[in-house]
Amino acid sequence: MNDMNILNDISSGTRNSRPLGLADHKAENQEFSNGGPGRCGTRTLPGEAEAARPSRAPGVDVPRIERAVREILLAIGEDPDRDGLQETPRRVARAYRDIFSGLTDSAARHLQTQFEHESHQAVVVSGIAFNSTCEHHLLPFRGQAHVAYLPHKRRVAGLSKLARTVDVFARRPQLQERLTEQIADALDEHLSARGVVVVLEAEHFCMTLRGACKPGAVTTTLAARGLYRSDAAARGEILSLMKRSPQGS
Ligand SMILES: [Zn+2]
Repeated sequence: MNDMNILNDISSGTRNSRPLGLADHKAENQEFSNGGPGRCGTRTLPGEAEAARPSRAPGVDVPRIERAVREILLAIGEDPDRDGLQETPRRVARAYRDIFSGLTDSAARHLQTQFEHESHQAVVVSGIAFNSTCEHHLLPFRGQAHVAYLPHKRRVAGLSKLARTVDVFARRPQLQERLTEQIADALDEHLSARGVVVVLEAEHFCMTLRGACKPGAVTTTLAARGLYRSDAAARGEILSLMKRSPQGS
């Protein structure tokens, strides 16, 4: 991606009262930016309390999904009993079990393992690939997460745990904006970080397969916490580190 100009734009953002959210509309799709009905636009919802989510999730009911998928096949005029489709409800149900496994997982589980490190420098991990599901259409959106935080009292988490944290929230029915905020909130809360920045860049299949049909449109969202929300210069500096990463460019 050549979205570094986007990061520059974000780094100069001045809206500090809430996480900054920008959409990069390569296709200049104004309808998308307005978050029209039934589309995954840039509508920003309050971040949902992460802690409450797993306890509410009953787990994925695989047989129920199988029945529902069979109904869908019937509804589109297909014969769910023909050779090619007989196993489809079962396959879809198992796929959904994986795709939505984050509903029964929590970021705390991954971030509670911490260790001490003498450095007070920021930790930046760029190019974390993620797959998520748009809650409006149950279609995938996928892209890269770039995560940075400034440790507090030398407490740091394993780098792989940052990727796990992204997956915990990505593997749920999501909005990209909320996903970005939830990742930032989790790092802020569980690491007590002095500052957090999360940037997500993603392509939404509900944009490319249907509706506006704009392949290649990349939506970029940013959430900042602590120092990186209150201090524009610090935010700009950390974003420049994120964009220097080979996979983040
Ligand atoms: Zn959608």
